[in-house]
Amino acid sequence: MPTELEIVAAEASTCTKCRLSETRTQVVFGTGAPHARLLFIGEGPGAQEDAQGLPFVGRSGKLLDQLIAEELGMTRAQVYIANVVKCRPPENRDPKPDEIDACRPYLTAQLDLIRPGVVITLGRYAAQWLLNTTEGITKLRGKAYPFAHGVLIPTLHPAAALRGGAEPLAQMRADFVRAKLTLADMDAGKAPTGDVPGQGDLFT
Ligand code: URA
Ligand code: SF4
Repeated sequence: MPTELEIVAAEASTCTKCRLSETRTQVVFGTGAPHARLLFIGEGPGAQEDAQGLPFVGRSGKLLDQLIAEELGMTRAQVYIANVVKCRPPENRDPKPDEIDACRPYLTAQLDLIRPGVVITLGRYAAQWLLNTTEGITKLRGKAYPFAHGVLIPTLHPAAALRGGAEPLAQMRADFVRAKLTLADMDAGKAPTGDVPGQGDLFT
């Protein structure tokens, strides 16, 4: 018997609800543990992801794997990794609002079925969209926001750390540690309150 998440993934694999279906090679639904406590959300698949059908398998993905190992002591199989849109935007352009709207039920289903305690958004784009704000990522990061079934912790996109040297990487490491401590608090039965009230009602 397939799980509900597998059923949604199978549905998505032939999706034609937006124009990105016309240029993709394959749908990149997401990968990882079906009940992961930690869910990473990027912007959308790039060329390598589109070719392999898996999220974050290029250079950014290698750095993500490294930070998951070094700061969380985990592997990608123990977390879940997904994107705001499941098909690669041509030339890696930003996804358009109507494409995001069309794809949103898949991410909503992932959040509801996986029920992660902590969502880590990677980059400005996913953070702004999920927190429904136009605030820049440097303002948004460094905090935890009440979101869905737990909290959302925004961090930079690994591509920014690959471009930008020591400081962005140090900030990402700090955000991963924040996520780890938040999960530990949840394990200890402390309510996940986050620092900023009133956000993240998009998926509750
Ligand atoms: N960048 C993203 O935002 N997502 C991926 O899956 C790969 C690169
Ligand atoms: Fe469907 Fe999402 Fe792909 Fe658009 S991006 S075709 S909504 S799976």
